[in-house]
Amino acid sequence: MIGQTFDAIVVGAGPSGNAAAYVMAKEGLKVLQLERGEYPGSKNVQGAILYADALRQIIPDFHEDAPLERHVIEQRLWTMDDRSHVGMHYRSDDFNEERPNRYTIIRAEFDKWFSRKVRAAGVTLLCETTVTDLLRDADGRVTGVRTDRGGGTAFADVVILAEGVNGLVGRRAGLRGDPAPEQVALAVKEMHFLPRDIIENRFNLRGGEGVVIEAMGTITAGMTGTGFLYTNQESLSIGIGCLVSDFADSPMTPYGLLEAFKNHPSIRPLLAQSECKEYAAHLIPEGGYRAIPELVGDGWIVVGDAGQFVNAVHREGSNLAMTTGRLAAETVVALKRRGDKATAFHLADYKRRLEETFVMKDLRKYKGIPSFLHGNKQIFGLYPRLFSAAAQTWLRVDGTDKRTKEKEILASFRKGRTLPGLIGDAVKLARAWR
Ligand SMILES: Cc1cc2nc3c(=O)[nH]c(=O)nc-3n(C[C@H](O)[C@H](O)[C@H](O)COP(=O)(O)OP(=O)(O)OC[C@H]3O[C@@H](n4cnc5c(N)ncnc54)[C@H](O)[C@@H]3O)c2cc1C
Repeated sequence: MIGQTFDAIVVGAGPSGNAAAYVMAKEGLKVLQLERGEYPGSKNVQGAILYADALRQIIPDFHEDAPLERHVIEQRLWTMDDRSHVGMHYRSDDFNEERPNRYTIIRAEFDKWFSRKVRAAGVTLLCETTVTDLLRDADGRVTGVRTDRGGGTAFADVVILAEGVNGLVGRRAGLRGDPAPEQVALAVKEMHFLPRDIIENRFNLRGGEGVVIEAMGTITAGMTGTGFLYTNQESLSIGIGCLVSDFADSPMTPYGLLEAFKNHPSIRPLLAQSECKEYAAHLIPEGGYRAIPELVGDGWIVVGDAGQFVNAVHREGSNLAMTTGRLAAETVVALKRRGDKATAFHLADYKRRLEETFVMKDLRKYKGIPSFLHGNKQIFGLYPRLFSAAAQTWLRVDGTDKRTKEKEILASFRKGRTLPGLIGDAVKLARAWR
């Protein structure tokens, strides 16, 4: 395969690369996909919630044979201090629908399944093959890739960079700079195994139902970040992540943070009797809209995490990866049909297509959030403590009348942050949220 010429080369076999390769092959294009891992998914880490809509647009009947863990019927959002959490839960039997909207998955299994579909569609996949460089012609147009397989090269009309957050190929080729430490989170994750009936009893679930918990607060030791706990069929995925720039300034290690999270009084009982069998660490691009690099050039397109396509507010990444992969592929297919060359001018159609989807609309909506969270650490320490103290004051029945309790709560907020501080935070949040 190395040395041949293809319609397209896809670098990476994560959700973005698989989506792109699948869509192009289904439309009859000759596609080579290169993956540095031993098998697709072997290097990949995710929570993991799969957002069904993005996959359904690529493989409508995916639920028939995809390795899905549980469909999510309940979402818990927790604000935590050291001993408590204030939670908002939403659970609905409506999520027990014929075609569920969100599933938990295990990425190693899911990526292998997706890759089987990709190969069945006609894509040539080479694993244990790292792309080391892009090849260019005399005019600077990208014409193919160099790999570590004996320095072997392969050629194509277009190269789709689906290489994930590190994006080494694109960076080495000068297509984008290094991600700034305040635009990338480092997350650590463990898999804890438990019998299915214990999980279902503990989380009040039946059959394939699942619960996901998203958490923030003092669990990140003053750093910008979040934690999560998701139910799988016979395991729980638990993880926590913070900005790399914050870890650099903190004595806390990622592993120390995860240990403390697991030992939190609200989390520890959920993990009781479980056996931890897997540990992984991975980066997440969290710079949002303002961190998106140039997405197309002569002979190349960027998709997925390599293009910083993650909505950190809603913890969505794989759906943006699959959607950007699909749109890049549809762009390439359309220009092939027209007989156009894969120039930056023609590939810019990908950017126009992106603008019409939730991907750009959502990232643009939250463009102020990354800098707001980075610059307002009281969100992760002071406020969770204040919310917890307020809930405790309100709920503890101790002979104090309710009006006095209200005054105490208001006074604690004023003392903790001052009135101008509270108003200022609300205004800043509202501006960032627009
Ligand atoms: C802890 C954690 C929890 C997350 N939770 C969720 C969640 O619950 N839901 C969600 O939607 N998203 C979640 N995300 C984000 C999600 O995982 C990513 O957005 C998604 O995986 C991006 O897909 P991708 O294909 O762009 O990149 P990746 O999945 O990273 O795939 C890139 C692939 O390219 C390969 N590669 C890299 N360089 C080369 C090279 N030079 N040559 C050949 N191959 C190469 C890699 O081995 C890899 O297989 C989470 C991420 C983390 C880290």
